[in-house]
Parts: sequence; C-alpha cells; structure tokens
Amino acid sequence: MSDIDPDVLELLVCPRCHRPLVWAYEASELLCTNPECGLAYPVRQGIPILVEDQARPPEGQT
Ligand SMILES: [Zn+2]
Repeated sequence: MSDIDPDVLELLVCPRCHRPLVWAYEASELLCTNPECGLAYPVRQGIPILVEDQARPPEGQT
C-alpha cells in the first residue's frame, strides 16, 4: 500500500502542464487536474514517479 504526505502532494505539479495533481488512493496514482492533459502518474513505495514516459494516458484517450 502506498500513501502520500499531503504536504508533499501540495508541492507536486504535473510535469507536462504544471497543474496540481490529486491523489487517487485506490489506483495509487497521481492524476493531473487539467482535463485536457489528464495523465495519471504511478506512485511506487510512496514515491511519485512524475515522468511523462511513465504516465498513463486518461481513459478513453488513445
Ligand atoms: Zn497535466
């Protein structure tokens, strides 16, 4: 199980569009709040992997 310090989360932004991220607990992902971006970044052992190459595109988008 992964978890993120809320103080750390406040500092994180999407590396692609620089919008804030929200923590999706069940998926252990950080979701970009920009609807035109919408990338989901994985979190491994509590460490956010804020790398575009590692991010999952939003559902329904190819
Ligand atoms: Zn973004």
